[in-house]
Amino acid sequence: MPPAAPLDQLGRPMRDLRISVTDRCNFRCPYCMPAEIYGEKYEFLARPELLSFEEIERLARLFVELGVEKIRITGGEPLLRHGFPRLVEQLKAIEGVHDLTLTTNGWLLEKHAKFLAEAGLDRVTVSLDSLDDEVFGRMNGRGFDVSRVLEGIDAADAAGLRPIKINCVVERGCNEASIVPLAERFKGTGHIVRFIEFMDVGTLNDWNLAKVVPAAEIVERLHSVHPLRPADRRYRGEVAQRWEYEDGSGEIGVIASVSAPFCGDCTRARLTIEGRLVTCLFAAGGVDLRGPLRAGESAATATPRNARPRPIQRAARRRGRGSRCTR
Ligand code: SAM
Ligand code: SF4
Repeated sequence: MPPAAPLDQLGRPMRDLRISVTDRCNFRCPYCMPAEIYGEKYEFLARPELLSFEEIERLARLFVELGVEKIRITGGEPLLRHGFPRLVEQLKAIEGVHDLTLTTNGWLLEKHAKFLAEAGLDRVTVSLDSLDDEVFGRMNGRGFDVSRVLEGIDAADAAGLRPIKINCVVERGCNEASIVPLAERFKGTGHIVRFIEFMDVGTLNDWNLAKVVPAAEIVERLHSVHPLRPADRRYRGEVAQRWEYEDGSGEIGVIASVSAPFCGDCTRARLTIEGRLVTCLFAAGGVDLRGPLRAGESAATATPRNARPRPIQRAARRRGRGSRCTR
């Protein structure tokens, strides 16, 4: 019999699993991987330290047994991981995974979209912070222009990876002027733009509160041009507050991780690239699953006969601190 789905100290189930498949990225967004820190001398993880696809699949199966229904693959930039569509196939084959998604910066998406759809990916989220090449170039830290990401979005659309979500991190003094054009570009397409408050993801991205544009201000800016009304949330734990255009031409989302944290409803866990289970984006440490897995320990495989508390269940039950995890 599969182990019972654990609830944490606040009665929250674990429904979503975010799996990071690489720590590398071809962008250097200053709010995430600032080039000064992630420069040529930065030591990324060596290959043997990364979970293999087989290890990821094995752990994902255990999470699904414990209640996870939705898997989001993230990074770093997941499309940089060699042989990535094979992992999509492996995860899609797990019975009980109802939603398999990917978050990508879109740079390599045009090339991969069709193969990802064929491998079983359900949909994608593409990050795009501005339609203005100058602003986007600054926000991706590489001077890359927008057109290639838009081509990636079109390819994903053509491949059926819908509904497509477009993630835009809004940073004061950087891209507030991009909010309306970005929303307008995708209004009426069925794609959903989600504006994310700039978060402090560690101490490396020079975060301070003055750089956060609160979700209420984002909505107000857009509402003054294209009237919006609030929409009901679709499920417990949905991170984005939904807003519909009054003219019926679609919806947008705002993720108020800073101004209105949604920890109380969090149903997420994340598996880091080196196999740590982290139950909050802001948690330090996490629970090592790779060590026991590679040692062949039953504690990691959660066999029913094992009398000791099992790492995944134990961590899931201990959740109780907040999460503002949109990634
Ligand atoms: N490289 C992929 C991408 O950018 O879509 C996937 C990984 S990225 C870490 C996942 C998401 O986190 C992106 O949508 C990105 O914009 C968002 N993100 C990264 N740093 C952030 C921050 N400091 N505040 C808010 N969102 C952030
Ligand atoms: Fe790379 Fe995504 Fe982070 Fe930007 S947000 S640096 S694209 S991982």
